[in-house]
Amino acid sequence: MFHDRPNLLILGGSEIAYQLAQKLQSLPVHVVSSLAGRTQNPRSPAGAWRVGGFGGIEGLVGFLRQNRINMMIDATHPFARTIQTNAQTAARIADVALLRLKPLPWQKTLGDRWCEVADEQGAAKILPKGATVFLALGRQRLGAFARRLDVTFVIRMLEQANHAASLPSSLSHCKIIFGAPSRQDIEARLFQAHKIDILVSRNSGAQASYAKIAAARDLSLPVVMIVPPVPPANIPTVHNVQAAQDFIIKQIGKDISAQ
Ligand code: NAP
Repeated sequence: MFHDRPNLLILGGSEIAYQLAQKLQSLPVHVVSSLAGRTQNPRSPAGAWRVGGFGGIEGLVGFLRQNRINMMIDATHPFARTIQTNAQTAARIADVALLRLKPLPWQKTLGDRWCEVADEQGAAKILPKGATVFLALGRQRLGAFARRLDVTFVIRMLEQANHAASLPSSLSHCKIIFGAPSRQDIEARLFQAHKIDILVSRNSGAQASYAKIAAARDLSLPVVMIVPPVPPANIPTVHNVQAAQDFIIKQIGKDISAQ
């Protein structure tokens, strides 16, 4: 089908990006996944991978050209705004096809008690005084909650390294727990053990993070849900790895036969 092995760049760091890298192993393409390097010991994606920022739009354009990338797949977390904008601009400058792979946001269902807000600042504002609130947002997003000294936060972090140094000092009295999202029953027990009143979550649409939302529903806990950024309208977008693979086969086949 292909005359040569096309080069694909996956902008990753999300669960769906790992799934795509794995899925593309069965195609005659060369895939490199890119991780930002936020975690100290990241899981290795299938195939080739690299770690660290590119150095802005210019750096990404340079990477695309040097590595003769035929297609870039933006499979970053839906809330990673800068890299998504950089990818869009760099793809245009370097004339590289761009595909967005983002899960659809979770839909509210019967029994959910969601209050939707635009961002972390909006979430911090509406938390009631005296509540015990579960935050699983990543340490870079905690600053917005630093002024709520009247709220007790239970903060879940993925890894222990340097957590104290990276926390706003006014949150240093809060409970920190370490671990990844888990099964629904385990998440429910965690909420009960910490006497959680409210959960704050971003609507990432990721399957792996949904158990806490289902657990909150089971326990009838309110969720302050941060809505995802509005996606750009003019970029081809798919929502699962099968659709991404289908798009890639179609697009790359077309590109190669046009050479
Ligand atoms: P961001 O604010 O959009 O990006 C900040 C900078 O980090 C970018 O300008 C870029 O640096 C670098 N970067 C981000 N993603 C990269 C990638 N996949 N490969 C190489 N460099 C990357 O991103 P963020 O919100 O800090 O998220 C960083 C990474 O963590 C993303 O890859 C994302 O998929 C993952 N992640 C994010 C979240 C979240 O809630 N935001 C949750 C889970 C996982 P240069 O300008 O130097 O190229």
